[in-house]
Formats: sequence, structure tokens, C-alpha cells
Amino acid sequence: MKDILAEELLQHENELIRLRRSFHRCPETAWEEVRTTKMIRDYLTPLGFTLKELPVEDRTTGLLAVSDCGPGPVITLRFDIDGLPIQESTSVSHLPTTEQFRSETDGRMHACGHDGHIAIGLMTAKLLSMHRDQLHGTLQILFQPAEEGCRGARPIAESGLMNTTDIFLAGHIVPASQYPEATGDFIVTDGSLATTKLDVRYRGKAAHAAHPQDGLSVMPGVGSLLSRLYALTEDKTSNTILNVGTLSAGTNRNILADLASMEIEVRGKNTEKNDLLTDMVIRTIQDTAREFSLQSEIQIAGSAPSLKSTQYLTEELNRLFQDSSLPVQTSPLKSTAFMASEDAAHLMEAVKSHGGEAAYLLFPASTSAVLHQPDYTFDEAVLTKAVYFYCHTALHFLENTDQ
Ligand SMILES: [Zn+2]
Ligand SMILES: [Zn+2]
Repeated sequence: MKDILAEELLQHENELIRLRRSFHRCPETAWEEVRTTKMIRDYLTPLGFTLKELPVEDRTTGLLAVSDCGPGPVITLRFDIDGLPIQESTSVSHLPTTEQFRSETDGRMHACGHDGHIAIGLMTAKLLSMHRDQLHGTLQILFQPAEEGCRGARPIAESGLMNTTDIFLAGHIVPASQYPEATGDFIVTDGSLATTKLDVRYRGKAAHAAHPQDGLSVMPGVGSLLSRLYALTEDKTSNTILNVGTLSAGTNRNILADLASMEIEVRGKNTEKNDLLTDMVIRTIQDTAREFSLQSEIQIAGSAPSLKSTQYLTEELNRLFQDSSLPVQTSPLKSTAFMASEDAAHLMEAVKSHGGEAAYLLFPASTSAVLHQPDYTFDEAVLTKAVYFYCHTALHFLENTDQ
């Protein structure tokens, strides 16, 4: 089977790259992946999958492709599909410029490589559909919206959609320069940064700036809050990070500002450190508001715990890909954490809480920049490697050896 798979992949290599580039051209941000979802649907429809809408209230993007091959294990592969609000580089040294597949939407870009993830997911679906008669069990491929900001996975996990999954896999293409310890084509992760995203508002009272006694400006409180928040992570050994990403306040020079809105995020090396800092941040926001007699509102806009691959699946994947005759090799590392946050962690926790196994993979690739930069792109050779990984693993768990 492994030789057939490698052969089939070779035949589909150009199609895989074309797919990646077609998604790179039309990046859509979280919950707006309408065209992306249609393209995914159009590709999967002739392959015989049952396509299901995701059980997320008021949202229609993303989908679950299901191939029911009778009794047996349920395996779920998850691929994220959203782009970012970034203006893509026009540099002539940027591959999407020279190869003419730059983003066609101003201010939107696939700068996290999710265009590659979609292409990997679709090609995996295609190759596995060609082997359907050899499978038993159920193959589910989840195309998840709104990973950026860690918003999409949680409602899917809470809907119970993952509860029947026995084996769950998700992964990310990453800059190889950030994982110099990787000797093979993928790493099974052990950890990631946990994160909480907060939307914060301070409310005061507007008045003519010539009569400040008639109102209450939010500005002194906001100024104080910013310095207090950043002081919380001054100790670099705390393994926590805080960022006030946006701040907008006020309407005019001669009016006391009555509203300030801030987008804040917290990250921690593990879930406990993240939760601790989140509590301190919330307390600081509330205490500062009280001190300046302002109203405060805090909303959790997104979150992700730290990724934890299960021991059995980690060992099984490392064992499976230690066969030197395979075109994909593991980097059997003890503990490499993803140096970012990932809301797949919610799906993994749901799978694990029902007795399933879950793993998160990193696929190191040579890249032109780091994730979320306007000149980010990756060496497309990683796509073939990742498709092989997913297909070989799915076949390992689903292949009907009784035949
Ligand atoms: Zn990202
Ligand atoms: Zn990403």
C-alpha cells in the first residue's frame, strides 16, 4: 500500500500545488470563509463524501466530510481554513508574486499557511476515497473555520461532534528555522501556548472639553490600565505574554472620551500559567475601572488550552514512521511544543474526554518569513509529505485486514 500511495501522490503533485495556490488567491477571515467553503464543497462532492454543515449557531462556513465504511474506528482529520487581515507583500522576491498567485483581496492574506492545510485536507480526501473499498470504520474530515483568534473549534467541541472520534489528528506547517531539532518530516507536539482573547470596554461620560466637571473621560483610566497590564508580564521568567493589540477611544478633540475599546490577548506556556495571568488581567481591568469611576465590560472572545497529544498515539505515530523505506520520516522528539496557540486543543480535549486518542503534528518547511508576516510563504514540497502522512496514518487505522 505504501508504494501505491507514493505513486498516486506523485501523479497528483501538480494538482496539490494548484489547489494550494487557488486557495491562496482568495483568503477569507474568520467566519467569512464563504467562497472557501464553496470551493471545498465543489471539490469533495464528486468524491462521494457526505457533506455536513457544522453545528455552530448562526455560522455557515466550514464543513464536515464523512465517509462511512461500516463498523470500525472513527478517525477525524481536522484542517483550518481561514486567512488573516494582512496586506500581502508585493515584493518581486515573494513567490506568490513571481508565480502569480498573490491574494486577490486587498487587506486579506493566507499568512498562516491555512491555504496549504486546505489543499492537504482535500488531497488526503481524494486519495483515501480511491481506497474506500479497502477501509472499515468512518473517516471524517473537518474543515474548520475561524481558527485565528481561537474561536471556531470551541463551539464545535461543545456541540458533541467529536464525541465518537477514536483517533484525532490535526497539524500545522511551521517554519523549519524555529524547530532546528527536527530531523524528520514531522513532529508530534507536546504542548503549545495556551491563550485567552479578551474584548474590553471602558465607559465614562461625554462632555464639552471646556467643562470637564460635567463628564468623565476614560483616558486617564486607559493610560493607567496599559502600564499596569504590561507590568504583569515584566518578569520574563513568568512564561507568560500579554498584548494589547488594538485600542480605540474618543470621538473628537473637544469632547471628553466616553468609550474605549481594547482587544487584549494573554498567552501562557501552559494552560495553568495562562489561566493565572488571565485572572490577574481581569482583576486589573476591574480594579482600575473602579479606581477611575469607570464602567468596565469584559468579554472572552476566544481561547485555547495547551495542546496535549496522547501518549499512545504519539508513540504509535513515531513507530509507524520510523520505517526508513517510507517517503516520510518522524522526528521522534520527547517534548517539542508548538510556539503558538491552536484552538484544535478544544477538539482534542473533547476527543480525549470520551476515551479517544489525539495528536497534533508540526510539519517543518523552509519558509520565507515567520507565520503572520506579509511575505510569508512556504516550500510547497511540505504539502506532499503531509498528505502522505495523513493518508498512511488513516489507512493504518482504517484498513480492513480481513479482506
Ligand atoms: Zn495563525
Ligand atoms: Zn495557523
